[in-house]
Amino acid sequence: MKISKKDALAWFTFFAQLQEAGETLTVRQQEVALAVLRQLELAARARRDAIAREIPGLKSLRGRTFYVGEEKQFPRGCVSCLFGSGLSAVRKTNRCNLRCPFCYDYGCTEEQPPIGEGMWEIGGTRFAEEDLPLLLDIQKKPTGVAYVYLEPFMEIERYYGVIRRFHEAGVYQHMYTNGTLATPENLAALGEAGLDELRFNLGATNAADGVIDAIAEAKRHIPAVGIETPMTPVLYQAFLEKKEKILATGVDFINFAELHLNPNNIGNYWGESFYIARQGYLSPFWSRELTLRMMKLADQERWPVLVHDCSNRTKFARDLHQKAVEGGWFGASSWGGEFETIPYEALIPALQDPDIVFTQEEPLPPGYRFGECF
Ligand code: SF4
Repeated sequence: MKISKKDALAWFTFFAQLQEAGETLTVRQQEVALAVLRQLELAARARRDAIAREIPGLKSLRGRTFYVGEEKQFPRGCVSCLFGSGLSAVRKTNRCNLRCPFCYDYGCTEEQPPIGEGMWEIGGTRFAEEDLPLLLDIQKKPTGVAYVYLEPFMEIERYYGVIRRFHEAGVYQHMYTNGTLATPENLAALGEAGLDELRFNLGATNAADGVIDAIAEAKRHIPAVGIETPMTPVLYQAFLEKKEKILATGVDFINFAELHLNPNNIGNYWGESFYIARQGYLSPFWSRELTLRMMKLADQERWPVLVHDCSNRTKFARDLHQKAVEGGWFGASSWGGEFETIPYEALIPALQDPDIVFTQEEPLPPGYRFGECF
């Protein structure tokens, strides 16, 4: 069913009203809704493919993700996620000093549950630091672990001991930060403890000078330093304005993540044109397109840094790989949506956007036309 954009708009306007009234869709109506999602996804893909064709240096990392630059700079933390046994999350800090509009915890950063004094959450289990030898002795060591919960530099001195233990066990470790609380002293201490890779969320401060300076400082202490940030129009602009300064830091890689939204942060982007990838993540059309435009520039200008397209497709590949490592059944994946049901109203702007074109349209078959689908 290659539903036309006009029919899609009529149906989604109706579905949004049904949703508002708390009613559920019939099976045929669900078929229409899923046909619209597919049309939006194909439209997004056609737009991206057109940009990708203009990047002669675009490379694929063994079919799982795309980048431009030298493969030797590809972040080992990502290789661990995509090919190894590591998307092992270590959680500690439940606070952040910023309020980014794209934060998955927007509006509720203050309500994130504490891990607990002296405790660490690893793979969903609570450990004291002194339990780590036991864990490493009993279970198979992951290729890597990542410190992923809010802003670790809120209490970075608590991390050094745990980092040291994982380092001594030969586990590759990467950490995320917004960079605003980084100092020469704490960066040196992280490097000394054995952190392998530090990733700065540049979008959190719209590429603040202090954070760019911290990236340069981190390069003096930590083996691999990168930028990992959701791609938004604001970041795109800020990055271009400070491009020379950013590239001069010697940063090793840049992961531009395709922004995806959940019920916490979607309000900050309401009215933009969205699509849904494989009935899972909901993203603005512009996010991955801006990444590809930036990669085109990086390729043309031969930036001395690897630029990685951390897209929804990459995360889909990562989730499939992760389940395979866990011994899941064929086809198993944790890929899925962040909304309880399709947010019909949020998708209406894309259906009204004259720049979004459905690649192929057909009249609806009998029984699915507006007014006769039950
Ligand atoms: S810096 Fe990270 S954790 Fe903090 S508000 Fe921004 S996105 Fe959320």
